[in-house]
Formats: sequence, structure tokens, C-alpha cells
Amino acid sequence: MSVEELEEDFEDFEEEQQHPPIRCSSCSGTTFGSYIYGLVFPDDDLFAQIGRGDIRLRGCCIEFDSPQWFCRDCDTDHP
Ligand SMILES: [Zn+2]
Repeated sequence: MSVEELEEDFEDFEEEQQHPPIRCSSCSGTTFGSYIYGLVFPDDDLFAQIGRGDIRLRGCCIEFDSPQWFCRDCDTDHP
């Protein structure tokens, strides 16, 4: 990996982009949910989103390679 690519990755991380993949690499599905990390105190709206499967809570520890999204169709994790 070149230095330029590393810098691009760093910029993406800094911006904390919240865009899901265009298409699932496993099933070509286009519906994604997002993982939420950290300590959260769900309110009614968040509970509703969890109930619909739009988001999932993933505890307080975020790993370097923790996925941000999951496919709603086949459950595959996506970075
Ligand atoms: Zn999928």
C-alpha cells in the first residue's frame, strides 16, 4: 500500500463517513443496517430502529476492523 492510499484511508476515517456500501459483496443486496459502538442510552426512537433491524448495538469496544454495516438480506458484515 502506498503512502497516498494510507492518507486516503486516514482522511476517510477522520470524516467518519456514514455511507453504506452500494451493494452487498455476497448477495448483491442493497439494504444495509449499521452497527453502533460505544455506550449508548437508547431512547424510543433508537429502540424502534433496533426493533426494525436498522441498527445493532455492538458493545463498548470498537476494534480497528470492526464493521460499520451489515447486509439486511444475508447478514454479511461490511466495513
Ligand atoms: Zn448480502
